[in-house]
Amino acid sequence: MKINLRDAFLLDRYEKALEFQLSLEEDDPILSEAEFKENPKVRFFISAKYGLVHCETTIDLSFIGCCSRCLEPVEGDLHIENRRRIITDPDKEDEDTILIDPNFMFFPDEEARNQIILEFPERFLCKEDCKGLCPVCGCNRNLQECGCEDS
Ligand SMILES: [Zn+2]
Ligand SMILES: [Zn+2]
Repeated sequence: MKINLRDAFLLDRYEKALEFQLSLEEDDPILSEAEFKENPKVRFFISAKYGLVHCETTIDLSFIGCCSRCLEPVEGDLHIENRRRIITDPDKEDEDTILIDPNFMFFPDEEARNQIILEFPERFLCKEDCKGLCPVCGCNRNLQECGCEDS
């Protein structure tokens, strides 16, 4: 999917709403983060006034990751919501902007994918005080007291 945003930059007023589910290819980079019960729901609302172009993003997804201490599956939800300015000048790029190419081409799938990867939690825990796996015998210490001594 690609959208030409030339009109947004050139016309006095412009509005466009995009709503879709991000389809995940088998080798999709976000699948290295977790498993997904369904494809992430994405909404972009692009609006412009006098050449100032903004994009409101809403992304919702549910995932199944792995507790980083005990490796048990953990279910979680991620909600992303932001409003950023769309620009074509790479010199003005910062965390509140979305840079598109000089031909005004906006790639909604790519943008959604980038935002998900950036916002995805780096670690998940099944619970705050997960005791993790025993470094000696490997048992799950939430379920079992193995009595090994930590070295
Ligand atoms: Zn855990
Ligand atoms: Zn042990």
